[in-house]
Formats: sequence, C-alpha cells, structure tokens
Amino acid sequence: QQDYDQGLEKTRHSFRDKFNAFMANFRSVDEDFFDDLEDLLIQSDVGYNMALKISDALRAEVRLQNAKSKKEVSQVIVNKMAELYQQDAQGHNFQLNLDKERLLNVILFVGVNGAGKTTTIGKLAAQFKAQGQKVLLAAGDTFRAGAIEQLQAWGQQVGVETVAGSEGSDPAAVVYEALQKAQQQQFDVLLVDTAGRLQNNTNLMKELEKIKRIITKQIPDAPHEVLLVIDATTGQNALSQAKQFEKATQVTGIVLTKLDGSAQGGIVLAINDELHIPVKLVGLGEQVQDLQIFDPQKFATGLFS
Ligand code: GDP
Repeated sequence: QQDYDQGLEKTRHSFRDKFNAFMANFRSVDEDFFDDLEDLLIQSDVGYNMALKISDALRAEVRLQNAKSKKEVSQVIVNKMAELYQQDAQGHNFQLNLDKERLLNVILFVGVNGAGKTTTIGKLAAQFKAQGQKVLLAAGDTFRAGAIEQLQAWGQQVGVETVAGSEGSDPAAVVYEALQKAQQQQFDVLLVDTAGRLQNNTNLMKELEKIKRIITKQIPDAPHEVLLVIDATTGQNALSQAKQFEKATQVTGIVLTKLDGSAQGGIVLAINDELHIPVKLVGLGEQVQDLQIFDPQKFATGLFS
C-alpha cells in the first residue's frame, strides 16, 4: 500500500483537492449540487457516460442514507466511489494469464509511441527474472529510430537476451525468429515489443495483426496476453486510440502507465466502462518495482485518503 500511495500522490492530491474544494462550497443536497458533482467527475476523466452513471448512483445513495450535512454527504460519496471502483472491477481477472506449466508464455505489447511499452517490458522482464523465469525480449518496433537500442539497453540492464533485427526490417520476421529461439532454447516467457507510430496508422494495425497471426501460427493458444499500454496522462484521448488497437489485436488487458504523474484517476473507470477490458498493471514511476498489479481497493481508497 505504501508504494501505491506514493505513486498515486499526484492523482490523489489533485482529485482530493478538487473534491474538497467542491465540498467546501456545499450548501445543500439539491440538483445544482449533483450537476456540479457531475462536472467534477467529467473533469477527472471519468468519461461523460460514466460521470452520469456515477452521479445517478450517488444521488440515489445520498437519498437512501438520508445524508444531509456536509460531513454525511461527503462520507456517502467517498464510500460509494470506493464501492463503484470495486464493483466495476468484479469478475475481471487482474492476474496475467501466465502458466508455469506452459512451455512458453507469450505477451504481446501494443500502444502508441511514448505510452511506456518498452519501459513496461523492461520492468516486467526484471520482475519475471527475479522470480527465476527465463525471459526473452523481441524488438518488434523496427520503425522508430532508437526503439531497438532502447529495448536492448533494458535487456542488458536486466540481464536478459533480446532478439532484434535492423531498423526498418520486417517486424514479423523478428518476432518469428524470437519465437523459434524461445522454443528451441526453452525460455519461459517471451515479451514482444511493437511499433506505435500514429502516422500511417492503417499499416500499423495491419502490421500488428500480422505479428499476432505469426505468433498464433507457431503456438495456437498464444499470445497469452495482448497488453495495451496507455499513458494515464493523455486522458480521454487514450480511449479512442485504444479502440483501434482493440480492433486489430483483441486486447486482453491494459497497462496504465504514469499514474504517478496523472491528475485523472477517473480514467480507470472510463476504461472499464467503455472498453470492458481490465486494467491489469499500473505504472507508478520509472523504477522496476513501480510496475504493479492493479488493485481496485487500494486504488479507490488511495484516491480519497
Ligand atoms: P514506448 O514508446 O511506448 O516504448 O514508451 P517508453 O517505454 O519509451 O516510455 C516513454 C517515457 O515514459 C519514458 O521516459 C519512460 O521512462 C516513461 N514512463 C514509462 N512508464 C512510466 C510510469 O509509470 N511513470 C512515469 N513517471 N514515467 C513512465
């Protein structure tokens, strides 16, 4: 909880400050109050539809509890928000679909440039290695200058091998080669980086589909996870991008990075509501230990306390 709290500091402060400022103007529970609350939620990147749903739920709860004073109303809202975060998360499997019995676990990472794919792969590689797993990286972003070197640098730092081609080479070929190597040399986990250029988007989606196909051709139940990496600070923009990646690769989980630098914790609810894909991992900083399994309970309590 402590790491989580530190990582969430900005999100929490900003959300809590806004909420406190809002409650400081509290007069009575009337329609204006709920309209303003709705605005506050929208500003926090919860998403428009979700903001309406939440304010409806809060309105009902305030009535049900017959909360009238500022303190009572505030308490009802905080409790209900925590409940919503958890409810929203129910039935979602936050654990990565990894199996030690499996010959090879394959995780494909997708997302726009700068979202934090390479960093997330590096952090995960370090965590898996510390658990005694044999990890291989595949440098599938052959498009962005420097992307291959960046992944190789992580590999070196962590002490795991990276399969890479030259810049501009066919990423599918790199992934194929990595799969061969991983199977022949009995690696436990293969982490596949991919390109995230926004220009020439159609080609990128085709490229990702091809990479996915090649993986499935080699190992029929793979990739075992397709993780979409989203920068929490980009807010609602991230959602429309996410839909494109989802269409091309059938995303199985979200990695929400830079939550340590985001003032918009509401994005977690918006993602669940609009994409129906669980947030599985959160990035709370640049260090290896700052990548953590998403815990809705900790997240919700962290926002208000
Ligand atoms: P990619 O283009 O998707 O591979 O993105 P990178 O992995 O290169 O990350 C872009 C920048 O975001 C780098 O400077 C990372 O150090 C930074 N970054 C990634 N994850 C986090 C995080 O959880 N918190 C913070 N503060 N920075 C992060």
